[in-house]
Amino acid sequence: MNQNVKHSPQRLHEFLRQEQEAILEDWRALGKRRINASRDLSDELQRNRVPELLESIAASAEKVSTSTYPAKLPGKWPKHHAEQRWELGFTLEETTREYGLLRMAIFKRLIPQIETMPTEEVGFLNEALDEAIVEAVNNYVAKANRRLASERERLDVTLQSIGDGVVSTGPDGIINYINPAAQSILSCSLEEALGQPVNSVMVTLDETTRERLKCAALCATENGQITHRGPDILLQRADGKLIPAEETAAPLRDARGEFIGAVTTFRDISKERSLRQRLGYLSAYDALTGLPNRALFVDRLYKTLVKAEHDELGVAVLHLDLDQFKDANDTLGRSGGDNLLKKVGKRLASCIDRSDTVSHVGSDEFILFLSDVEHKDYVSGLCDKLQERIGHPFKIRGQDVHISVSIGISTYPDDGLDPNALLKHAETATKQAKAEGRNIGKFFTAQLNQQAEERRHLRAELKKAVAADQLALYFQPQICLSSGKAEGAEALLRWEHPELGQVSPGRFIPVAEQHGELMLEIGDWVLKEACRQARAWDDAGHAPLRISVNVSLVQLRHDTLVSRIEELLSLYQLRPAQLQLELTESLLMTDIAGATDRVRALKALGVGVSVDDFGTGYSSLSYLQELPVDELKIDQSFLRGITSNQEKAAIVKAIISLGESLPLRILAEGVEDRHTADFLRGIGCESAQGFLYSKAIAPELFEAQYLASQ
Ligand code: C2E
Ligand code: MG
Ligand code: MG
Repeated sequence: MNQNVKHSPQRLHEFLRQEQEAILEDWRALGKRRINASRDLSDELQRNRVPELLESIAASAEKVSTSTYPAKLPGKWPKHHAEQRWELGFTLEETTREYGLLRMAIFKRLIPQIETMPTEEVGFLNEALDEAIVEAVNNYVAKANRRLASERERLDVTLQSIGDGVVSTGPDGIINYINPAAQSILSCSLEEALGQPVNSVMVTLDETTRERLKCAALCATENGQITHRGPDILLQRADGKLIPAEETAAPLRDARGEFIGAVTTFRDISKERSLRQRLGYLSAYDALTGLPNRALFVDRLYKTLVKAEHDELGVAVLHLDLDQFKDANDTLGRSGGDNLLKKVGKRLASCIDRSDTVSHVGSDEFILFLSDVEHKDYVSGLCDKLQERIGHPFKIRGQDVHISVSIGISTYPDDGLDPNALLKHAETATKQAKAEGRNIGKFFTAQLNQQAEERRHLRAELKKAVAADQLALYFQPQICLSSGKAEGAEALLRWEHPELGQVSPGRFIPVAEQHGELMLEIGDWVLKEACRQARAWDDAGHAPLRISVNVSLVQLRHDTLVSRIEELLSLYQLRPAQLQLELTESLLMTDIAGATDRVRALKALGVGVSVDDFGTGYSSLSYLQELPVDELKIDQSFLRGITSNQEKAAIVKAIISLGESLPLRILAEGVEDRHTADFLRGIGCESAQGFLYSKAIAPELFEAQYLASQ
């Protein structure tokens, strides 16, 4: 700078501009050498805004001068510069130091000229530099404060609204903050907590020993470490109530790293705990009946077996299956059915000792075991007792509900040594009990096991039978007793298995019925085959013959039966009256209301309906008035020895007169001798079927013997 040049704020301005690079260079060197104030800023960042800062320092100098320069630069460069430093993470101390260095760099450049500078100008410069620095520092602080305030606000909102309790304490353990959640968990007000020693507000106990524990906040303050407590602690609320909780206290330090207190966060875990307890309960108990579930049952049975082995005593496992539960469920509705199961569970539980267990394992299945069994008689006795108790009507929604129970029994050690084997064998025995009728208790035997095995085999083979073309329909004539001519034929299913040979329907139909889909498939095949045969005989020019087809309850209950029959009648162009469906009495009786509707729908199609095996069911005749049937088939058991047995003769006579009054066709099944046929004709029976006339025979034979001749 020229010595002759008169100094002025403007000149100073120019000087700073000209010297900018050199000042920056010095500033950088100072920054590097002296302190790390400038950190590792890139060159660009080092320079960033510094020229403007210098400019603004010059402008401030102008402000201080008395000169007439009108332009007034706002203190915006110091502001930007300060903000930028703040954003880069400089502390206030670092930023101030940086300004100090800058000041030094400027003076260093100016020194050679200071002598020639008017004192006034040096004063300007000094003041301007100070002002710029103060302004920058103020800006830095203002920005930091703004940020801090908004952070505080955010923190406050968070603390006010979170569900966890937060309490902060000073180094003396006095509470200086407590959020609303903490107040509600501890059931105390803000006033009651603030300023109080934390250990008087947060009283913590060991859940098991109920001993008082040192407050986590105090531990954290003392040892400067995070302290966690729970989940086995209790917090005692102001109202004395104890709540399970979990708490964590963390020490607080000031900027110099000194401990200045602690922040404790905690929460009430009672809901969580009851949920966990409920889950634990659900994993061992049945939600509906409240009885132990299968897993718990097996566990207890296992322990009982271990003890039984040691004591050399027996154990019995009972598998119980409610008879007709499905029907009861259908009538009562789901909640009524559930109610019934609960009551059944209660009654069963009331019949056994405390050391024994009853468990609900399936919709209508229960299992129970009896320990310390010395004799099978005891088990039979209990089985009778259970059946007797279940046999008493249950009151559901003011209605008397009657059910019975089939029971299968296996015993340790005869039938198995482990829970699974015993349960499996008890179940096998129940299946057999069910097959024999209702309300039966049955002990497992090796023979039963063999039968179960056989059924399984039969089922597997039967599944292939339709596709393998092993099924055939045979026909047995139904004879009009007055004319002696065949008025109809019953289609009877025959299964010729390549290895098992002829398997009788009495054996395989129940197996198919146990597996609905299989019965539906076979039943459909029978219906179709019967219709096809009827068409073939019609086409061959024979007079139309009524064909009776046995229909299983599984089919009757299936939604598509009516539409399927309609379809088949139209496919084979048969008159509906040519087809008659035989429904067994006992099956009809299991769901008389549902069956009545279905039978009505079938009747509406025009097909005939016959009650098969009449007399073997519930011998309740009242339902016949409701059920629109055409024919009763007196079961063959009534005809055995009818000519000599007066009681049987009386029953058959009663059935025949009932048939006349309703009116219904009466057909006697299983007529094997002429005597019986004559007797039946004598008492007014219309039709008969049986070996006297013919067995069920192949269709070609039937055609030759009964159709061609008529
Ligand atoms: P069911 O419907 O009562 O048929 C009468 C059964 O008695 C037939 O046995 C028949 O051969 C037999 N039988 C006829 N006359 C006499 C006789 O004079 N003396 C004796 N002792 N028996 C006679 P099968 O063919 O073994 O059928 C047994 C049962 O299997 C049938 O009883 C019926 O309930 C069922 N069944 C047969 N075919 C079918 C079918 O296609 N579908 C359904 N769902 N069940 C069928
Ligand atoms: Mg039949
Ligand atoms: Mg029959």
